[in-house]
Amino acid sequence: MAFELPALPFAMDALEPYISKKTLEFHYGKHHQAYVNNLNKLVPGTVFEDASLEIIIKEATGGIFNNGAQVWNHSFYWNCLKPDGGGEPSGVLMEMIIRDFESFAVFKEKFSTAAATLFGSGWAWLVKNESGMLDIVQESNAGNPLRNGLEPLLTCDVWEHAYYLDKQNRRPDYITDFWNLVDWAAVEKRY
Ligand code: MN
Repeated sequence: MAFELPALPFAMDALEPYISKKTLEFHYGKHHQAYVNNLNKLVPGTVFEDASLEIIIKEATGGIFNNGAQVWNHSFYWNCLKPDGGGEPSGVLMEMIIRDFESFAVFKEKFSTAAATLFGSGWAWLVKNESGMLDIVQESNAGNPLRNGLEPLLTCDVWEHAYYLDKQNRRPDYITDFWNLVDWAAVEKRY
């Protein structure tokens, strides 16, 4: 069964002014679609032909891993964002952020630094480990924390294609705007 590009959970212009319609037309419409197309070309005849993306992330290597993980990572990223997002989490997630990072402000600073300092292309993640502790991890290229037994809660795509049309080389400006889009209710549900 072929992999499919999931529907974007909002309109192409819904994240403006922080992420433009033009960026989403390329990022979702071209890049995310290309990972789906590449994966569908690569898996036939392999043990991953009928595998889930999660199995591909945990077990595949090379092009199948890269494209499979990028399909999953982008679907997850879109579901971390919403128009009129931002603010702060509440409930248990907020309690855990305070427990593990001292305060929401410290967490935000550490996550922003992880996203800004990741060398080259990749992703910054807020993750939960087996015992429920929160952590921030950097993953290069298509990297995904599921491969290390960590549960992804939130991600920020820091590949240049995520921000270059809007911000050119100014990744920190993209990260600042990212916080205005985070769907904390969705992140809370994952915890
Ligand atoms: Mn991307």
